[in-house]
Amino acid sequence: MKLILIICVLSFSCILCSQDTNAAKYANTIKIKNLKLHLNKLASDQLEGREAGRLGQRLASKYIANMFESFGVKKIMDSTYFQRFEFYESKISKAFLTNGRDSLLLNKDLYMIPRYGIPEKKQVTTHTIVDFDSLKSLPDSLIKGKSYFSSIKKSQLSNGHEDIRRLFKKYIRAGASSIILSIDTIMKMADYFIHQSEHSIVSLKTNQSTTNQCLALICETSALEKAFDFSIEHQFNKNISFDLRLQFESTKSSKIFFTENVLGVVEFNKSSDEYIVLSAHYDHIGKKNGVIYNGADDDGSGTASIMVIAEALAKAKKDGIKLKKNFLFIGFTAEEKGLLGSRHYTDHPMIPLEHIVAGLNIDMIGRADTLDHKTDDYLYIIGSDMINKDLHDINEKANKDYSELDLDYRFNNTDDPNQYYYRSDHYNFAKHDIPVIFYFRGVHEDYHKHTDTVDKILWDKLEKFSRHIFCTAWEIAKSPNMLTK
Ligand SMILES: [Zn+2]
Repeated sequence: MKLILIICVLSFSCILCSQDTNAAKYANTIKIKNLKLHLNKLASDQLEGREAGRLGQRLASKYIANMFESFGVKKIMDSTYFQRFEFYESKISKAFLTNGRDSLLLNKDLYMIPRYGIPEKKQVTTHTIVDFDSLKSLPDSLIKGKSYFSSIKKSQLSNGHEDIRRLFKKYIRAGASSIILSIDTIMKMADYFIHQSEHSIVSLKTNQSTTNQCLALICETSALEKAFDFSIEHQFNKNISFDLRLQFESTKSSKIFFTENVLGVVEFNKSSDEYIVLSAHYDHIGKKNGVIYNGADDDGSGTASIMVIAEALAKAKKDGIKLKKNFLFIGFTAEEKGLLGSRHYTDHPMIPLEHIVAGLNIDMIGRADTLDHKTDDYLYIIGSDMINKDLHDINEKANKDYSELDLDYRFNNTDDPNQYYYRSDHYNFAKHDIPVIFYFRGVHEDYHKHTDTVDKILWDKLEKFSRHIFCTAWEIAKSPNMLTK
């Protein structure tokens, strides 16, 4: 009788949800204890904030590779756990704008955000004059290759320098030739720009031509008028475009750094060339003034998560479980330098990009934000339906069948002002038309501060989310056809 009842319950529950008992079994091998083990190591002071190209990052990459080996996660192409590359950090030593007679000097009467890119030399000529509101709303098609000038009052900025930063970013991303703003007063904003110019400019190549880069700068109206002897008001009244004929020049000092992505594979089906990528960036922002930024949530949480998922899948493989597809795990380096590790990987893939059916990227899932949520089991899903619907459906179904989380799509929009879709490593796969999901729990008060420490991690959530991502990956691996693009 008992047996019949159990069979009834089992078959009833299988009608309601199509849970795979193996998926559930191996998901349950993901335990807080192991997440703690890895994250305590990654976010320890010994690893000095894991800044790309520095000792702490190298120690972290060795730790991840050693763990992969102990789990039975294999080297890529049986040869290595690492993909090494170099990158460059440069600082502006001097920059100025001149008409041949008078000059405006960077951080004295001329301000910019150099780390968004800065040309070495640029001739500034004809600019289209537009008012600030039009400037903010111009479509990308009218920005590419063009030069614009606008004069604004500080009172027009509702978010101060943040409005300028966003505007510059929009114009640089859209491929403008130059964008020059004059403002009635730079008061209270100058410090921000000076601070920004102290950041290094990071690039993958040293000989990258920067001549064509967008020139995005702001200066006080009076300084511009005085140095170059013209009236902006006069220009605004008379013209829709005007001639500036100025020369911009900058000099930089550069340093080379070496770093590496960490990779491992779990191959269930040798006759299949299809892989599912599970990724997280293991680097963080290092030390500042001797203070270590441990980066427990960003992105120690995602790194620990892919490690426990890798371990669970390697266990399933060892036990002889069959799945149709294979797994590639990547711990990306230099994400904090501008997604460099994932850009290098997708430029030099060790498994062809055509064979990647989906990319699941995890960045900051160990904490909570302060926004309103239906339950505290929320998880932001970004990008899942941008390339195709299949991945979105599998993730949703895995949630119904196994996890019952509150999947939250509020940031799943390329127009969202936070631009999260572009802000972690999945984007470098998405831009190659590979379906991706970015798993994320939002920013919090300790984001990019030295207080992002391991004692604040919500372990039960991290375990729950890791299990969910495991089940989603498992279900993708079971699906017979490559996700249609
Ligand atoms: Zn991150």
